[in-house]
Amino acid sequence: MMPAVNLSNGAKMPIVGLGTWRADQGKAGEAVKVAISAGYRHIDCALVYQNEEELGAGIHAMIDQGVVKREDLFIVSKLWCTFHLPSLVRKACEKTLRDLRLDYLDLYLMHFPMGVKPGDDLFPLDEHGQVIADDSDFLDTWEAMEDLVDAGLVKAIGVSNFNKDQIEAILNKPGLKYKPVNNQIECHPYLTQEKLINYCHSKGITVTAYSPLGSPHRPWASSDDPHLLEDSKIKAIAEKYKKTPAQVLIRFHIERKVIVITKSATPHRIKENLQLFDFELSDEDMKTMLSMDKNLRGFPMPWATKHKDFPLNSEY
Ligand code: NDP
Repeated sequence: MMPAVNLSNGAKMPIVGLGTWRADQGKAGEAVKVAISAGYRHIDCALVYQNEEELGAGIHAMIDQGVVKREDLFIVSKLWCTFHLPSLVRKACEKTLRDLRLDYLDLYLMHFPMGVKPGDDLFPLDEHGQVIADDSDFLDTWEAMEDLVDAGLVKAIGVSNFNKDQIEAILNKPGLKYKPVNNQIECHPYLTQEKLINYCHSKGITVTAYSPLGSPHRPWASSDDPHLLEDSKIKAIAEKYKKTPAQVLIRFHIERKVIVITKSATPHRIKENLQLFDFELSDEDMKTMLSMDKNLRGFPMPWATKHKDFPLNSEY
């Protein structure tokens, strides 16, 4: 049984999940099948990754073959920014459900706090390369997401890439019906997020760490960027436990009771990234990894710095 974290809606969220961003066409379906066969029960999806149909086929193949039951899976997806107007929220969720061929999602996240001009272009940019905002308010978007819970389309709702003040705005919203159960944020030893994690946990909001390996293949990475998987401190810790640097980087979150999603579309790595439950990192090694914080983001979102709800201007 995969260890799980309790959500405030009473559900249990498996602490390790499969990431699917850049799980390319022709690979995503196979990746999710390998993952489910290997024991993954939590799959992290998003409309904007444009691979939900293929993931849905893979998930269904595993259910049809009796490898897993729907109720034993924890499927997450995310509301894309071009669907923030309340009238569009249900349409986006229904598209995801159709593509994944599911009746419900276990968790639906607002992908970013920033609403963007609706339309077929998922990244509408102005002449300065800045995203074109819509006139939505994320509190209204949240209310429309609450309706999805009431309609039975999703079991729980949460946020992603939200800072403390933005979460607080939801928690303080008059008439709030459901509080966010989870905030999905970038997190790894170069960006340890101690304050935001402590804040979320103090409010009963779980945290999911994305890009736990530092997203080494993100398209905008430069050759000078520090590379977590190659970091000598991480390598030394990995050698000590006879584990790989990736396994140590993923285990780092488990010690913090933070849910972690790692992407791989390579069968042996998908399996490697789940071999995490036969060792524990010592307090000293955790201290070393926490001391590596450089506030270094793989996702600084330069395309959104002028948006009124850009989340990265405040301290945390
Ligand atoms: P990760 O840190 O998970 O790194 C993924 C990359 O590392 C892939 O290129 C993969 O290659 C490689 N890799 C995987 N396992 C290993 C291993 N054991 N050894 C060496 N290399 C390995 O980056 P992501 O940015 O993809 O983050 C994970 C997930 O988080 C995403 O897929 C997505 O689901 C979610 N996410 C959410 C965001 C949000 O805004 N909410 C933003 C970014 C990510 P290969 O596939 O070839 O094995």
